[in-house]
Amino acid sequence: MSAVPVQQLDELQEYAHAVAGCTRCRLAQGRTQVVFGSGNARADLMFVGEAPGFHEDKQGVPFVGQAGKLLDKLLAGIGMTRADVFVANTLKCRPPGNRDPQPDEIEACESHLFRQVALIEPVVVATLGNFATKLLSGRELGITKVHGREQKTTIGGRDVLLYPIYHPAAALYTPAMLKVLEADFARLPELLGRALEPPPAPAEPELTLVSAGAGAEQLGLF
Ligand code: URA
Repeated sequence: MSAVPVQQLDELQEYAHAVAGCTRCRLAQGRTQVVFGSGNARADLMFVGEAPGFHEDKQGVPFVGQAGKLLDKLLAGIGMTRADVFVANTLKCRPPGNRDPQPDEIEACESHLFRQVALIEPVVVATLGNFATKLLSGRELGITKVHGREQKTTIGGRDVLLYPIYHPAAALYTPAMLKVLEADFARLPELLGRALEPPPAPAEPELTLVSAGAGAEQLGLF
């Protein structure tokens, strides 16, 4: 893992500080605190869930409940921990009673997520479930249709590989869905490897040393 550029870390911390006082939508009234996100500020892999629930709202950390435990287990399965990745949500504040995020709340909050991506600079962004997937793909196709299918996109001005997968909460009590989630998760190392590969060097022109003139004539090129 590369060393953390201090400036970028500072910027992310500063941004977290600013977002802690966000009052852009009605969710500011009912929250205990903003759940900004947690993990490695320079992660190559970022997860984006839906919204904080009861425990996340109390602790200020995303995915600390049952779904979070499953996320930890899935990460362990690919040899990673939460310290290797960055985990955030589509909404940074808990909707009352864990209801679905509303369109105006997503709109109010989305630039926080875009800025996080711009500062963290992940190469793969795995969206967990419908809300994050629809927002970041910019398409209405549901997770059942698009899970496990990576696509190139731009988020926060950054080119990333977007990788939609089922939300761990949905897989908790549905064994068939868990199997699919595990299989999709298992592809993450390959996707990371692919996204981190340096771009192929430009092909060298075949006759670089040959210039027009006497030399070229001698080679019988003209
Ligand atoms: N579900 C989410 O989408 N996010 C959390 O932080 C917790 C549960």
